[in-house]
Amino acid sequence: MLTDAQIDRYCRQLILPEVGAAGQQRLLRSTVRLHGRGDAALVCASYLAGAGVGALALEGAPLHGATAAALGLDGGGEEEIGRWIARRNPDCRWLPAAGLARPSAAVAIGTPLPARLPEAAVMLWGGADAERLICAQLPAGRACRECLDAFVGAARADEPSTLLGTFIALATLRALLAVEPIDRPVVWQVDWERPQARPMALPSRPGCVLCAP
Ligand SMILES: [Zn+2]
Repeated sequence: MLTDAQIDRYCRQLILPEVGAAGQQRLLRSTVRLHGRGDAALVCASYLAGAGVGALALEGAPLHGATAAALGLDGGGEEEIGRWIARRNPDCRWLPAAGLARPSAAVAIGTPLPARLPEAAVMLWGGADAERLICAQLPAGRACRECLDAFVGAARADEPSTLLGTFIALATLRALLAVEPIDRPVVWQVDWERPQARPMALPSRPGCVLCAP
């Protein structure tokens, strides 16, 4: 059951058919492990916390700089992230990355990828460069680090933008809400010149038992 304060807090998204009261409770029960350097990771964390994700672990995001300051994060150490997330939304808990071994979703932005990908969670990766934004989404149990690493290396999309953070946050929320079934690894690409997205199959290594279609 949502409290009156939560109904107030999330009223703008509760009216969306993709969310509703059941979806909001699902978000509040969910946990996200976010790995990424650059402002995109902070923007993504800010959106996820604001949307009411229950717990967030953040690795590698910058605590200083113009975007951090604009988001209300004014330097300090790791504990500052916890205070910042609590100010952003008291429903969202900050956890040290080591304290979130089995997240509902794992998100990585830019490179390098985390040393280990989750086994039981949906995995999202995002990168961007001057021409495009790329998002790869792998279903739970099929987060294949070797194929994703090869794809990320070939994509060379390593200039994460704040817009990328917004895009990945929305993709993560859709995944947590199960807006559409996530049953195969897919890649989304958005060209800045022609802003339309279409999914493609992840180019797995031939014969990969984990992620090849
Ligand atoms: Zn693979």
